[in-house]
Amino acid sequence: MKVKLAKTAGFCMGVRRAMEIIMSEANKGNGKLFTYGPLIHNQQVLDLLESKGVDVKEDIDKLDKGRIIIRAHGISPDEREMIRSSNLKIIDATCPRVAKVQAIIRKYNNKGYTPIIFGDPRHPEVIGLMGYSKGNGIVINSVEDIEILLSRTDKKRLVVVSQTTQDVDAYRKIMNEIKSHYPEAIIFDTICDETYKRQREVKSLASEVDSMVIVGGYNSGNTKRLYKISRSTGKPTFHVETEKELQNSWFSSTESTGVTAGASTPNWMIKSVTERLKTMGKTRQHPLGDLLKKIFQFLIKTTIPEAIGAFFLTYAGLILSRGNADFIHPFLALLYVYCMHILNRFLDKEASTYNDPGIALFYTQHKTFLIITSLIGIGTGLILSLSLGIAQFLLFLALTILGLVYSIPIIPWRFGYLRRYAKIKDLPGSKTMAEALAWGTISSLLPIIGWPEPFWPGVLISFFFVSSMCYVRSGLFDILNMQGDLIVGRETLPIALGERRTLKLLLLLNIIFATILLLSTAIRVVSNLGYFLIICFLISFFYLTAYKKGWMRDGYPLHAIVESNLFLAGLIAFIWSAVGG
Ligand code: SF4
Repeated sequence: MKVKLAKTAGFCMGVRRAMEIIMSEANKGNGKLFTYGPLIHNQQVLDLLESKGVDVKEDIDKLDKGRIIIRAHGISPDEREMIRSSNLKIIDATCPRVAKVQAIIRKYNNKGYTPIIFGDPRHPEVIGLMGYSKGNGIVINSVEDIEILLSRTDKKRLVVVSQTTQDVDAYRKIMNEIKSHYPEAIIFDTICDETYKRQREVKSLASEVDSMVIVGGYNSGNTKRLYKISRSTGKPTFHVETEKELQNSWFSSTESTGVTAGASTPNWMIKSVTERLKTMGKTRQHPLGDLLKKIFQFLIKTTIPEAIGAFFLTYAGLILSRGNADFIHPFLALLYVYCMHILNRFLDKEASTYNDPGIALFYTQHKTFLIITSLIGIGTGLILSLSLGIAQFLLFLALTILGLVYSIPIIPWRFGYLRRYAKIKDLPGSKTMAEALAWGTISSLLPIIGWPEPFWPGVLISFFFVSSMCYVRSGLFDILNMQGDLIVGRETLPIALGERRTLKLLLLLNIIFATILLLSTAIRVVSNLGYFLIICFLISFFYLTAYKKGWMRDGYPLHAIVESNLFLAGLIAFIWSAVGG
């Protein structure tokens, strides 16, 4: 069955921010950590937090020490005061957009306006908002409730706001109705932008597919609203929390289904559901097309395209620096990248489980095959490098050891604070840099060992070209893997800088790298192949922009573009050399 995933599915900004705060506090390990009420309405995330030692507390009377996190929904001023008067350290993860609504209520309430809040009176966000009205607020949940409002107040000075995740159309109706009764009422559209986009997308997605699946907690209000909106379009709609609840009978005559998820649904749950859905329902695909797709998906999981990409990139780097290339060095790069990626995945399984459960399962199912092929790969690489010379053998061996040590704890746990940085990969931002340097070394420096008179400026530009292509690619994948890395406490570049800043940095570096290649080609440090290889930076610029703007999201098409850019580098170099440079 064809599965179309909504671009807006998954954590909203506020929940993502709260998760980042809580995981970074949990990974610090400085004593007890609590959340004031469940962080979000998603049982799987709550189970995960519990496994990380984060306890949910609603009654703080018996707590005498520790840190307590205020969730994205926010709390009332009275509750805040109560926590302040305890010995607990407050860590505030209130979503800034919720805080803005709280500020509106406080401001107008102080001016004598009666706050009217459209929302679910039992929802923590609404309870917190009501607290800012100091008992003057009125909660309404439907247009019918305006009757009650009319009977309870004849005040003209009303300020109207909405819970940030409410139904957009229902709030519009309410705004119009209130305006007709109270023309002087001050009305704020406080429904969050993310809610708008999700609700609009669920309607348009439902019009393109045969059925809809909504993923998220059964007690998550915004997930239930997405379900309701989808059903209102007339499309068969199913609400599930996990992939285990999906039933074949739901999709017996379905060729395509749309998937979206509530603001508190983690990526790994969405991925598990979409992967399962792909195996269900009817398919219109030609058997050959289906087979090719399966082969492609298998290859992506084994990191073979990445390894072949390293082959092509090394080939391009060699032609760029010395005008010709053999096939042994690109093959060494292929072996190295394949083995290191596979073995590092096994040494660091936990993050994969959260980043992509499908890949984690694949690695469990094919463990023996993958480990044996990796060990054969290392052995072959060592023999091949030895055939080139002892220096090349030693460099290949050193890079292999470094590649493995990278994921293994090298600082004993008893070194207190330093235990956070027990592995090389724990150093903030080290993963992207280490990968780039390893690719550059194996592709550009190892091949020049034994050259009689290497032209160093050209070699350095080649090193720089390979490393920069790898850095940008690896930086993007770190962004895609943020949720899992955050959970296991890995400090990648996006976790240190945040997603938006990392994307901006990658785009900027991409431009700088392209300019350096252009200038070094213009002053003839490298051959005019450099001009043609600028195309690869343009493609990197395209996929980074496409991801930043939300035109593409994590999935096989994005992976295909990123990896084929490496193939393209080799192809350009091959054509350039075939036509005589
Ligand atoms: S839905 Fe909007 S307002 Fe509510 S937590 Fe998410 S980002 Fe913040």
